[in-house]
Amino acid sequence: MPFDLPVQFFQQIPDSILLEKRKTLFSKYNINTVCSSARCPNLSRCLKDNTATFLILGDICTRKCLFCAVDKGAPDELDDNEALNIALAIESMGLAYAVITSVTRDDLLDYGCSQFIKVLRSIRSLGKDTKIELLIPDFSGSFDALHKIVYEKPDCLAHNLEMVKRLYPELRRDSSFYDRSLAVLRSIKALDPAMPVKSGIMLGLGEKKDEVIKVLRDLKSVDCDIITLGQYLSPSKRHFPVKRFLDREEFIEYRNIALDLGFKAVLSGPLVRSSYKAEETYRRLKGFK
Ligand code: SF4
Repeated sequence: MPFDLPVQFFQQIPDSILLEKRKTLFSKYNINTVCSSARCPNLSRCLKDNTATFLILGDICTRKCLFCAVDKGAPDELDDNEALNIALAIESMGLAYAVITSVTRDDLLDYGCSQFIKVLRSIRSLGKDTKIELLIPDFSGSFDALHKIVYEKPDCLAHNLEMVKRLYPELRRDSSFYDRSLAVLRSIKALDPAMPVKSGIMLGLGEKKDEVIKVLRDLKSVDCDIITLGQYLSPSKRHFPVKRFLDREEFIEYRNIALDLGFKAVLSGPLVRSSYKAEETYRRLKGFK
């Protein structure tokens, strides 16, 4: 079955068949996706919408965030064919919009920046006008790495704050820092004011309402355009537990607060993840049909 078919086609096919097709394709190209690595609850929807978020730089992270389902430890060698394989998979799937993200690679000299660029260029070399959203790590605060990424002009550049500032030391174990991540977002707009910038946080980790509003204000202060807010779900009993399930009204309230603050697009709801409706949101922002 070819993958370059309209989205309506995929709506009619059972999830199990789509999942099997996708597994076969991704295994052929040795590809990791966040969809499976982070055990995303929206897998079914993404299969139907024919979207996926590609995870590059391997599937093992050098950091040890307590909320994250990605495996941690010593990463494998970089895959020299990764950029080409992702481009070929995107071509096979007929994707108009691709989200590329990665594990954090503090072990690499450039923190994985050059691999992001290789993947982006490889997709663009197909000449299909696939829009590319890069969801980047903090590159350990390297301005040089960030500058190189912005210079490549991805169609949207995202970096997640993930949570309120107070919870960073406990959940990110002093390897990621709120202020550094905020500085990444600030620098993107400083380097390219026209770049659509996106960030996201999870809720239900023990944060208070005024802390969430502070994050929204901080993101607005660095000119972030798009914000996602979703319910945290604990990947397993070994991970940080959910402190609270927010009700829908609370998500609506945060959405309204964010819109009042002036964000151009706000996605807020229990199942929202950073790549949720990424293409639709981007197209709305840019005024595309
Ligand atoms: S740095 Fe990112 S990928 Fe790595 S453990 Fe933390 S949240 Fe997961």
